[in-house]
Amino acid sequence: MRILVVEDERAIADFVERGLKAEGYAVTCAHDGETAEIEALTGDFGLVVLDLLLPKKSGLQVLDSIRQQKPDLPVIVLTARGEIEHKVEGLDRGATDYVVKPFSLEELLARIRAHLRRPQQRSAGGLEVGDLKLDFRTRRVEYSGAEVRLTALEFELLAYLMRHPNQVLSRGQILNAVWSYDYDPGTNVLEVYVGYLRRKLSSDDGPPPIETVRSVGYRLVAPGD
Ligand code: CA
Repeated sequence: MRILVVEDERAIADFVERGLKAEGYAVTCAHDGETAEIEALTGDFGLVVLDLLLPKKSGLQVLDSIRQQKPDLPVIVLTARGEIEHKVEGLDRGATDYVVKPFSLEELLARIRAHLRRPQQRSAGGLEVGDLKLDFRTRRVEYSGAEVRLTALEFELLAYLMRHPNQVLSRGQILNAVWSYDYDPGTNVLEVYVGYLRRKLSSDDGPPPIETVRSVGYRLVAPGD
């Protein structure tokens, strides 16, 4: 499994490269946006770690190119602490996840492992993530073997989250995907529906599988993570 690491700060690039190699990954480094774009589009990578502030071409431009040509390639963006707008913009433009600098190797490795997993098992008419099962034909949802009755919107919201397990989804991404109209940015409809879903998916075994990612959005946590 080869990983592309895009980072112009040599010390960070070297730190990540050494760490990933120690874990058995093959690594290619790119130190500017132009090289990164060429590598990402022509190389055979299982995942890209992408810094956003880069010389020659910005990380967001590189991300746009990757999304146009390789929509399924996982991209983890590196953002500086406090740059929430970068984080959100990266996610809105198709980043799979993000890690905030300064980060530990363990944090980065955990995110990489989560996204390198094989795509979720999915049968023709449904989705399955951990103990959650959703069937599009019967509109039936099961959690830990018990049926959960959902309204149409709750169903759509859950289906969208289940299509992106372990991925941080920004409010904008979710509102666009599920409500699909020019939503009012100040709306709290998403928070309300996440609240409904959490109540319906609560169990004695632990917290509901929908996690709030502060200042950004939500993540459906696939059990075992
Ligand atoms: Ca940088």
